Amino acid sequence: MTKNILWREGWIKPLLTESLPSEKCGICNKEFDELNFVTSCEFCEKGIMHDLCANDHISTEHIKELGEKINQHKEKKLHSFQ
Ligand SMILES: [Zn+2]
Ligand SMILES: [Zn+2]
Repeated sequence: MTKNILWREGWIKPLLTESLPSEKCGICNKEFDELNFVTSCEFCEKGIMHDLCANDHISTEHIKELGEKINQHKEKKLHSFQ
């Protein structure tokens, strides 16, 4: 069965925690550790968060926005084939 999967950009951008507004994850509130993967949520302003926290956060709290985005994408695809 066809499944919707979610592509995140494949490049890694090194950052220092001191350059961030907060050294804690916007979701679990734990401090970032050496070589943690982090990202931000495109749907809200929670700031930088662990990549794993973001996955959970987006697929539970933004399920509606996610659905809209998936539909938009499908429509776009339809149009480009016409
Ligand atoms: Zn976290
Ligand atoms: Zn969010």
